[in-house]
Amino acid sequence: LVVLKDVNKHFGDLHVLKDIDMEIGKGEVVVVIGPSGSGKSTLCRAINRLETIESGTITIDGKTLPEEGKALAQLRADVGMVFQSFNLFAHKTILDNITLGPIKVRKQKKDEAEKRGMELLERVGVAQQAQKYPAQLSGGQQQRVAIARSLAMNPKVMLFDEPTSALDPEMINEVLDVMVGLARDGMTMIVVTHEMGFARKAANRVVFMADGQIVEQNTPEEFFTNPTSARAQDFLAKIL
Ligand code: ATP
Ligand code: MG
Repeated sequence: LVVLKDVNKHFGDLHVLKDIDMEIGKGEVVVVIGPSGSGKSTLCRAINRLETIESGTITIDGKTLPEEGKALAQLRADVGMVFQSFNLFAHKTILDNITLGPIKVRKQKKDEAEKRGMELLERVGVAQQAQKYPAQLSGGQQQRVAIARSLAMNPKVMLFDEPTSALDPEMINEVLDVMVGLARDGMTMIVVTHEMGFARKAANRVVFMADGQIVEQNTPEEFFTNPTSARAQDFLAKIL
């Protein structure tokens, strides 16, 4: 579903993505881990065209990412993205946050978008808060709304970039539970996280990045118990 071939990206002299090759099949859940600065966020942003790439190709469902314009907006709508910060619109209610994209980009009717929006809020457990504003919700609730907002666009793939790292510990699980549910329902997901519990529970594959390269990848069981590269061994020794 998502295919990266020979992707390269520099920031000035810094080579942040080096010949990245990656294939993510439909329904697959890939966890990306690696040291700070290894290029994980840049990789996610490149897939969503928030960053340009200098060489290589990225295709989603067989389509190469267009550079700009309407086609880009459409393709981006197929790729949901959830960041560390929730980025909800502060002056809009929770329900309006959810329905904005479907109405504007997917051209859904308001009542239709609201019906589906309420179903999604139900699914992530914040339907009670539909008429409130983001600031009235806890961080965990806001992040679940952000997930629901992405889902409202019916994306083909969901990208998560450290979705729980800004949350208080007691709220991390409520967000991870929603993500595990999504994974079980067959959503294709690329998840940057250091939450090993999530990786063990939901990931088909762990991709370990260092210095802009994919150093190794394996099933969670194999990766956590038998990392083959010295870099991965080092990294795991620090975080486990
Ligand atoms: P972290 O775990 O800290 O989030 P990361 O693996 O997500 O790290 P990236 O954010 O992808 O790493 O950054 C990779 C490298 O590119 C880092 O050295 C970073 O400083 C650099 N970088 C990222 N964005 C930019 C930018 N817009 N301009 C210049 N350098 C950048
Ligand atoms: Mg990052």
